[in-house]
Amino acid sequence: MRHALLLLLLVFAVDPSVGRTEPLHVFAGVVPIRTFVEKIGGEQVDAHVMVRPGYNPHTYDPTPRQIAALSEAVLYIRAGVPFEHAWVNRIRSANPAMQVLDVRSGIDLHRMEVHEHDGEGGGDARSRAGHDGHQDHHGHLADHTGDDAHHHEFDPHVWTDPRLVKHMAGAIRDKLTALDPEHDKAYARRYRAFAAELDALDRDIRSLLDGLSDRKFMVFHPAWGYFARAYGLIQVPIEKDGKEPGPRALTALIEQARREQVKVIFVQPQFSRSSAEQVARAIGGRVAAIDPLAADYADNLRRVARQIAGAAER
Ligand code: ZN
Repeated sequence: MRHALLLLLLVFAVDPSVGRTEPLHVFAGVVPIRTFVEKIGGEQVDAHVMVRPGYNPHTYDPTPRQIAALSEAVLYIRAGVPFEHAWVNRIRSANPAMQVLDVRSGIDLHRMEVHEHDGEGGGDARSRAGHDGHQDHHGHLADHTGDDAHHHEFDPHVWTDPRLVKHMAGAIRDKLTALDPEHDKAYARRYRAFAAELDALDRDIRSLLDGLSDRKFMVFHPAWGYFARAYGLIQVPIEKDGKEPGPRALTALIEQARREQVKVIFVQPQFSRSSAEQVARAIGGRVAAIDPLAADYADNLRRVARQIAGAAER
């Protein structure tokens, strides 16, 4: 009995993984990224999210409690969503020892759909000139994706393409392994399982969407640029430069929707659906919700593919 106890004490003394009961505190910018962290980290991580469910990542303000909680974190996983550009310095200064992993690195970033200005409101000529100047300037910035001054040109919704998520999952595995080498095998094993899940998801989405003859879908907020690029679809956004469209732009969209026999206008729960409802009413169509920020990543993306496929049916 005494020997057994001694042996037990020795085991605790020599194996640090037995002694380390605290999981790694990791913060993710948005819910899907938290899901990826949980997939790879399992019980070795305690994963938190900045943009809480139901909130909009374009305008989010972290709470004081969240900023305080960052002091416990060893890692912040940045998705590149707009609130992070405004908050990155405060996030870093809340915990200078915390590492920051940007999941966009190594990804060919997609530019946001650039909208024609619809000619409404004052000062349009000036804003148009300003916009064009900006575009020219941007010609050389394609490889400066980490440059916070220029973030708004790039579509931040990188996680809507499962193949890009596989790339991100590899980066998350590598980072967790570097922070916690004791559990390298567990991270590697969970990565392989998640990668297989993502491959299956990609195949399922392809088979749901491959046969569609109508490749366009209309959506209020253009969160599906990477999804559309991956599966050969065309996303038609209602939102113009991050704002509700004015009456003239709305009329043009309604005409386009009629011409292209659009039946469904997609919205997401974190945004207003009033413009989408106006278009839907005018064309005798309906509004349907698809959520790029859902926690059940793979099942949600299958639902999204099914909904887009259903909307294209005549
Ligand atoms: Zn968005």
